[in-house]
Amino acid sequence: MRAHVITYGCQMNEYDTLTIHSELVAGGHEIVDAPQDAELILLNTCAVRGKPVEKVVSLLGDLRKERRRGRDLTLALMGCLAQLDEGQAIARKFDVDLVIGPGAITDLVPALDAVERRRSDAHASAPGGVERLHFRDDLVDHITPPPPAGTQTGFLTIMRGCDHHCTYCIVPTTRGPEVSRPLEAIMHEARAMHDSGVQEVVLLGQNVNSYGLHDPTLPSFAELLRLVARVGIPRVKFTTSHPMNFTSDVIDAIAGEPNVCTYIHLPVQSGSDRVLRRMAREYRRERYLEIVREIRAKVPDVVLSTDIIVGFPGETEDDFQRTVDLFDEVRFEHAYMFIYSARPGTPAHTHFDDMPREVKTERLGRLIERQKHWALEANRRWIGREVRVLVKERAKDGHYVAGHSDQNHTVLVPADQVRRLGLHRVRVDHATPHTLYGGVLGEREGAVELRLAS
Ligand code: SF4
Repeated sequence: MRAHVITYGCQMNEYDTLTIHSELVAGGHEIVDAPQDAELILLNTCAVRGKPVEKVVSLLGDLRKERRRGRDLTLALMGCLAQLDEGQAIARKFDVDLVIGPGAITDLVPALDAVERRRSDAHASAPGGVERLHFRDDLVDHITPPPPAGTQTGFLTIMRGCDHHCTYCIVPTTRGPEVSRPLEAIMHEARAMHDSGVQEVVLLGQNVNSYGLHDPTLPSFAELLRLVARVGIPRVKFTTSHPMNFTSDVIDAIAGEPNVCTYIHLPVQSGSDRVLRRMAREYRRERYLEIVREIRAKVPDVVLSTDIIVGFPGETEDDFQRTVDLFDEVRFEHAYMFIYSARPGTPAHTHFDDMPREVKTERLGRLIERQKHWALEANRRWIGREVRVLVKERAKDGHYVAGHSDQNHTVLVPADQVRRLGLHRVRVDHATPHTLYGGVLGEREGAVELRLAS
């Protein structure tokens, strides 16, 4: 079949989409770029917040209309939403043919065969006839082939699942407990990426710092980071980290390996200990600040980002002020800030009452303003300095090309100064809260022919 995959959510899902592509191609299917050319559409979904679920429902509604108008289309629901009762109910409502949890991607091709058999069997075509495959850890040993030649950023999952049980989060239900992938599989994929010219590798996991924690035969995350860094890919990044497992040896590895990016995403979620307790986050504000102080002391020019949930049930104005104070103390260069959205099946949804949306929205607005202030101040400090930028794509207005610095700043440079994608030396001449602007000083080794979409 001609297949098209639509991906929602995090980088883990983008990586899983690469695996879905490789499974489909190995099974004799063809990947097409445009959904209208597809006979098979797979939705690789996210269930962390309500918004992506709404998008999936809306898209499935449109696709069901097309089918009713006579389009011959097979539909598959994959990813985190597929693992939940909520997702399976949505699949039944919209006559989805196939439901596959995030740990069972390697079952995709046999399951598609089963769908075909079911369709050709008149007795089995009753309403609600959906193949369901539930979570299991068959992906940990699976080797994902390197991305196509010319790909600049490669994603490499090192662990899956989560053993923390934050009261707002559905991930432990959808992705299961923590499982670290074998070292050989990770190193094999890293070397293959290096050989295919990948310029940056992003190590992925729900909680990368707990890599190897449950298996004494595996290295720690800090040791793994050093091993991957020494494969020779120009840049190494990782996400996501949990403050509980962010130990000094990880900070030392970042400081000691020149190609590990000096950008650390360390979700704090709230600045109030009372709220952290209700969230079942196992650290407290002071421990988080200790980690930040150690990072800033050991890693020069580090850029810190975080995740914040505003308006968690029971958050008082005082609690919220503790978060604002934390921003003033840490001066995060970047933050992903969301208002709390209750997810069915989580303890917070079951046991706590949500607060009025207007209160959450108003607090979020204040925090965004605060964060912009610190981001602008931090970005201005880069004016006049040279940064190394991985140029990836044309910016929306067409006059600039966009890339990221080693510290994960978005950097725009005039399009007429760039002949190739890849790493460039750039001098920063202007800064806004979200972007650095600069001029190209030169290309670095590893630049590839420019293939910018116009
Ligand atoms: S650490 Fe908490 S927020 Fe992160 S995936 Fe695990 S349960 Fe969810």
